[in-house]
Amino acid sequence: MSIASSIPHTFTRERRQPWLRSVPAPITSPVSPGSGRSAAQAPAVDRLTAPAIPATVAAPTVPTWNGGVVEYANFDHGASTPALVSVVAAVDKATATYSSVHRGQGWASQVSSHYYEAARDEVARFVGAREGDEVVFTRNTTDSFNLLARALPRRTQVIVFATEHHATLLPWEERRTTRLPVPLTHRDAEALLRDALKRSTSSSTLVVLSGASNVTGEYWAVERLAAVARGRGARVALDAAQLVGHRRVDLDTLGVDYVAFSGHKIYAPYGTGVLVGRADWLDKAAPYLAGGGATAEVAPLSTTWKTGPARHEGGTPNVLGAIAVAAACAAIREHRGAIESHEQRLTERLVGGLRAIEGVETFSIFGDDADRAPVVAFTVEGVPSPLVSAALSAEHGIGVRDGKFCAHLLVDALLADEDADVTTAVRVSAGLATTDEHVERLLGAVASLAANGTGTAYKQVEGRGWVPVDDQRETLVDLPW
Ligand code: PMP
Repeated sequence: MSIASSIPHTFTRERRQPWLRSVPAPITSPVSPGSGRSAAQAPAVDRLTAPAIPATVAAPTVPTWNGGVVEYANFDHGASTPALVSVVAAVDKATATYSSVHRGQGWASQVSSHYYEAARDEVARFVGAREGDEVVFTRNTTDSFNLLARALPRRTQVIVFATEHHATLLPWEERRTTRLPVPLTHRDAEALLRDALKRSTSSSTLVVLSGASNVTGEYWAVERLAAVARGRGARVALDAAQLVGHRRVDLDTLGVDYVAFSGHKIYAPYGTGVLVGRADWLDKAAPYLAGGGATAEVAPLSTTWKTGPARHEGGTPNVLGAIAVAAACAAIREHRGAIESHEQRLTERLVGGLRAIEGVETFSIFGDDADRAPVVAFTVEGVPSPLVSAALSAEHGIGVRDGKFCAHLLVDALLADEDADVTTAVRVSAGLATTDEHVERLLGAVASLAANGTGTAYKQVEGRGWVPVDDQRETLVDLPW
């Protein structure tokens, strides 16, 4: 694998601005959808008349270390989102006619088959699929990119930025992959890509891009980068796992050939993802899952495989998973404006609030002002990231992630200027289950950690990480069945 860079790349930590030193006042009035104004500029909007975001299932209550109970503040939407109420209802309804799909003449089978194919259509609408594009149901984004990797014509050259999540960084044949360094600016990204494309000698090239970073939440200039790729005859695959829940994706407008995302990051359950895009490579490729459903005809000495999505969906498909994804797509599509304004408010408050805390360092690829989803990676001076996340959970009922977020190259680069013992970060990622109270609770908790350290003593326990010395929480909970 080549690392294509002659340009030295160093990373600046986001500088905390002196004028952001004091924690900004909580935002209490939402922005009207599509106004493009910041919350500070927006006129006060009556909460009761503000456009509604789709409802997620009620947040659970969770125990704190000292025997308290508090509503769960979920700041881990970037990993998996809680289900939408409408998704649960759709799955519940479909369960009533749950039957074999594509294989039965029974009425229930026909209903299930109809739901499954209609789910494909809904996904196609959601990403603005073009005439002739295929929608293949997979297990998740990782599965989608592994399928695409197997479908590449022989000797296809792959170009991918080191910023990518491992799901899009790793599935490609190593010796045919060019890894571009973490860019400093959007222009830098374009220059790096242009340069790599000029040097590509293959007749078939795939550029793999991310819509939004799962570490920093920053949006990539997909349309511009895709135009650069197209200009050199390359195809583009977009990892939209962290994008489609926040911003609209339209294959045609963006000029990309393939898009993949996971249901569990857009308020549907685990186990279903999609790959949408050009049919030709997919139809020529060996079936991803050889087996029933993928075959047109099986003779003693030969097998004819179907073309279309069925070619890669061998075995009984996850019909309820597909229905759940479709229901989530439909709800997000319908409420896009309200979702964007809700998240813009959260993002401004989260980013501004965290940056204002003395001892907190936030990170970005493209700089302080980069447009981003409600996702922030940060460190707290003097408190290891695993301890930060343990304390947020044990003392405040707040769920975040710490580590390298399956993007080791990016996190290593972002933390390159930190002390040697700072090798991981904390990530907060908000979404539709996040309330203003959650945000204020988080900011207060992080400010307290940065100023005074943890609120109780912690010890490290094999297999569990940091736990309060006097932890009163039960580690075993009742099973759900
Ligand atoms: N890409 C990005 C940007 C992600 O954030 C993730 C999940 N963290 C993936 C791909 C992989 O998604 P999944 O685990 O659902 O396959």
